[in-house]
Amino acid sequence: MRSISSRQRSRILELEEDARPLDPDAGERDRLMAEVHAYAQRFLDGLPERPAYRHDKSAVREIRKLGFGRGPQPLAGLIDRIDESVAGVGLVPSHGGHLGYIPGGGIYASSLGDYLAAVTNEYAGVRFTGPGAVEIEDLILDWMASFAGFPAGADGNLASGGSIASLIAVVTAREAAGLRARDYERAVVYSSAHTHHCLHKAIRVAGLAEAVRREVSRDGDLRLCPDSLAKLVAEDRARGLRPWLVLGSAGTADTGQVDPLDRIADVCEREGLWFHVDAAYGGFFALVEGCRRVLAGMERADSLVLDPHKGMFLPYGTGAVLIRDGEALQDAHAYYASYLQDTVESEWGGRSPAAVSPELTKHFRGLRVWLPLLLYGEAPFRACLEEKLELARYFHGEIGALGFEVGPEPPLSVVTYRWVPKSGTADAFNQALVEETHRDGRVFLSSTTIDGTFWLRMAVLAFRTHLDTIDLALEVLAEAVERLEAHPERWRSEASAEAPAEALAGGGGG
Ligand SMILES: *Cc1c(COP(=O)(O)O)cnc(C)c1O
Repeated sequence: MRSISSRQRSRILELEEDARPLDPDAGERDRLMAEVHAYAQRFLDGLPERPAYRHDKSAVREIRKLGFGRGPQPLAGLIDRIDESVAGVGLVPSHGGHLGYIPGGGIYASSLGDYLAAVTNEYAGVRFTGPGAVEIEDLILDWMASFAGFPAGADGNLASGGSIASLIAVVTAREAAGLRARDYERAVVYSSAHTHHCLHKAIRVAGLAEAVRREVSRDGDLRLCPDSLAKLVAEDRARGLRPWLVLGSAGTADTGQVDPLDRIADVCEREGLWFHVDAAYGGFFALVEGCRRVLAGMERADSLVLDPHKGMFLPYGTGAVLIRDGEALQDAHAYYASYLQDTVESEWGGRSPAAVSPELTKHFRGLRVWLPLLLYGEAPFRACLEEKLELARYFHGEIGALGFEVGPEPPLSVVTYRWVPKSGTADAFNQALVEETHRDGRVFLSSTTIDGTFWLRMAVLAFRTHLDTIDLALEVLAEAVERLEAHPERWRSEASAEAPAEALAGGGGG
């Protein structure tokens, strides 16, 4: 006989009833889904009419006015709040006019993968609990390893983004070199001025803030110079230091340049250094036939990071790391916990994602990658990537023809350019120019500073960016230059203090 008291029983049933909204029935699910779906349709169909960037602090303030968790509110009002205070404010990353930083994606099929991953809530951290989910992740990693040219025996992990993927790479490099705290002050890291800051962050987070940093000089196209690298390594050895890690880029966020990876790999191989290649932005261009040459040498990396939420146009939340020596990845991350003892010697075989990553429980990221690839095949992805390369080349030619000074012909899809005014400081003019385009908002452009000079950047990677978007960007830029030339008080130093500083959103993103 069960010995539940009637008081306990009625309390439990009462709580079950109170918690019922968390598990809606089919009819209620239909009603919720219909509203969400209708909004998604409205959002996507209305995207071309939205600005790519909008500054509106008061809209964001409205979020807190709704309160939080106090009582039930109708979905319609919440969707309106998302639309007005979230989706339409700041940068609109799903917009084709996102041409700043390194644009992300947001393909629809991937959002459905996320939906199904969340509804089924597969446990993707451990093979024993989610063997199918882990198989899908493995398949995706195998696919990336194969087009990146990695050998059998390579392994990897689907992380939340390029930064965490980079941290996994750095920790693996640290462990593979057998570095211990007493070695850190002698360990040397080689990078260029254009190495992504997330790698320097990863080194610090990995405990290696004291490591010696060497900035390798660059060639005329701002690419890391292998001869200078070799020279620095020799000097460091002579000093009794311990050369350890070389950070190469397959597409820098600043200028889109690809370091001479093959020649850097030669130096690393000769000197026994760990070669990390940051292909977060550029890696997926390896899917485009004509790009293999540009990325040559990427396949020789010891660790490689690719960002599917950039180059595969996925919604934010997926970065990948590949490690040539799969065992090194496990040696750096595998752990044992007695409460997980059933999961270790599992009949499913093969390592779990948790054994090659700092994460245990994680989102089933594989589905958002797998679903679109199986639904469409690779071809539309290749086409979209090649279109972006062509658009960047087209912009490079056209912006030069408008009278802008342009950076080098883009090997991938980032173009740097600036306007040199007839008189006055070019940096002040270009800073005002980027602010002017933010106020316009039809497209979103960003800037960078290269060796002390202010440049505008155009980064073509949003999947909704097409020929008409580039023509629009050219129009926005030409009009903005005309306005600033006509109103020098807007950018000349004596007047610039009055310019609204907040117009330059700056900062964030790749
Ligand atoms: C975006 C980017 C990163 C960082 O990746 P996140 O996904 O933003 O964490 C690193 N390197 C390059 C070249 C990038 O473009």
